[in-house]
Amino acid sequence: MITNKNIDQIIKKVKQCIKKYEQPVLERFNKKLNDPYWVLISCLLSLRTKDETTEIATKNLYKAAKTPQQILKLPVKKLKKIIYKTGFYNNKAKAIINVSKKILEEFNGKVPDNLKDLLSLHGVGRKTANLVLTVAFNKMGICVDTHVHKICNRWGYVKTKTPDETEMELRKKLPKKYWKKINNYLVLFGQNICLSISPLCSKCPVEKYCPKIGVIKRR
Ligand code: SF4
Repeated sequence: MITNKNIDQIIKKVKQCIKKYEQPVLERFNKKLNDPYWVLISCLLSLRTKDETTEIATKNLYKAAKTPQQILKLPVKKLKKIIYKTGFYNNKAKAIINVSKKILEEFNGKVPDNLKDLLSLHGVGRKTANLVLTVAFNKMGICVDTHVHKICNRWGYVKTKTPDETEMELRKKLPKKYWKKINNYLVLFGQNICLSISPLCSKCPVEKYCPKIGVIKRR
């Protein structure tokens, strides 16, 4: 079982294991552009799509328009065409337009740097808001996506049904020093080792501690 008695050891092993993998697209964009608006846009585009697809769409959109003003000047048809491959492009285009409008009208053209205001933006849920806070502003937050939710439950570290519930449990028990980075660690770990279907337990550095809760098939 993984508890707060061994969490330091577990995270150390996970960090060591993910060193060789490429950073998630959002972190790379943030390093390159250093612009919270693009962390937010990239996050909106990444919903239910693969990292590679998000990366191409974000790059193409950035080529076409760099600021909320420029995004709003793009013909909607062109915007949809650029983001088409990320899926759910109608909803995503709507979210990008609404978010850009609100940022201009209510936040002086700047992405807000607090959870409450971020959550007031159309299409921004807790996952996206926490990711923008932690990645773009280096502020405290816990971003729980499917990987964090799945792995923390497999570990028996939490027992929850939804990512939002997991976030609330982690806020109660995860040492604060891991809040900002837990998403980064577990996304890479989940994409490469603790896969959704048939995780690679035989290659996993925390296998001997993990109760593998809910894992039916593993390799
Ligand atoms: S042992 Fe298997 S289920 Fe547990 S963390 Fe490792 S890969 Fe995931």
